[in-house]
Amino acid sequence: TMEALKGAAVSAAIKEQVQNRLAELDGYIPTLAIIRVGEKPDDISYEKGAMKKMASFGLNVQSYTFPEDISDALFKEEFAKINADKAIDGILMLRPLPKHICEKDIEKMIDPAKDLDGISPENIAKVFAGDSTGFAPCTAEAVIEVLKAYNIPMQGKRVTVVGRSMVVGKPLSMLFVKENATVTICHTRTADLKAECSRAEILVAAAGRARMLDSAYAGKDAVVIDVGINVDENGRLCGDVDYESLEGIASMATPVPGGVGAVTTAVLAKHLVQAAARARG
Ligand code: NAD
Repeated sequence: TMEALKGAAVSAAIKEQVQNRLAELDGYIPTLAIIRVGEKPDDISYEKGAMKKMASFGLNVQSYTFPEDISDALFKEEFAKINADKAIDGILMLRPLPKHICEKDIEKMIDPAKDLDGISPENIAKVFAGDSTGFAPCTAEAVIEVLKAYNIPMQGKRVTVVGRSMVVGKPLSMLFVKENATVTICHTRTADLKAECSRAEILVAAAGRARMLDSAYAGKDAVVIDVGINVDENGRLCGDVDYESLEGIASMATPVPGGVGAVTTAVLAKHLVQAAARARG
């Protein structure tokens, strides 16, 4: 039978690492700034999840919320203050921002040392160079953490990643290359998605399409990692993978909810403590 790769177990292992690093900070408790513009339900639920995780890891959070119609100039002014605040160790900005705010400018403004979700050009360049001294996007790193926590070898393996976004697909593909995997990146123009997916030993779904990958896309004994967070036709949370259909085909798979999502915020916490430790020498 197929084994469920549970995010909670991976998160618990990361919590232990975080607590060991915290102990080296001589009682200093790092603070995460979460920046949200507007009231999108997705943003609010991600923010809630992140706040709960920080609290359970013993870390501080400061929320900054701005109205949807804040001007580009005023938002940048406010962002610059948070960015320069010595009491803030790391920043998570919920994205996408409203269209009238230039997100590219913020990516260039954010202090790479506080850029916990890897949006700055400097951190992105490090991910692509295989240099682990920066911060990779938390979700991409969470996928690698799940595989490592379950001792699933990546070296030499055929990995297919469905999705080429800058927050998941592309950086994750580079993290797999660093682990010496052989990576295929698929997207909306891929000619034969079924073939590319079903020959993968490790299949990662990050397309944002509810249950689009079923057993026809999974190879025998494949490990399937589902990054998708979607709402199905009944208003229920679901992944990009039709989990039930993989039974008897895949060897292991992450459920949604209860898979990668729980690990993403744990990686955020790990990055926060790393940022604080580096800033304090
Ligand atoms: P995105 O929309 O920016 O990118 C989706 C990618 O998938 C694109 O590159 C596109 O080419 C590809 N794609 C879409 N439909 C496809 C199809 N039918 N066939 C092949 N490729 C297709 O999305 P994203 O920001 O990368 O997020 C992907 C999913 O991951 C979403 O469901 C999102 O909610 C979820 N997500 C989860 C976390 C987490 O913490 N678990 C974090 C970020 C995003």
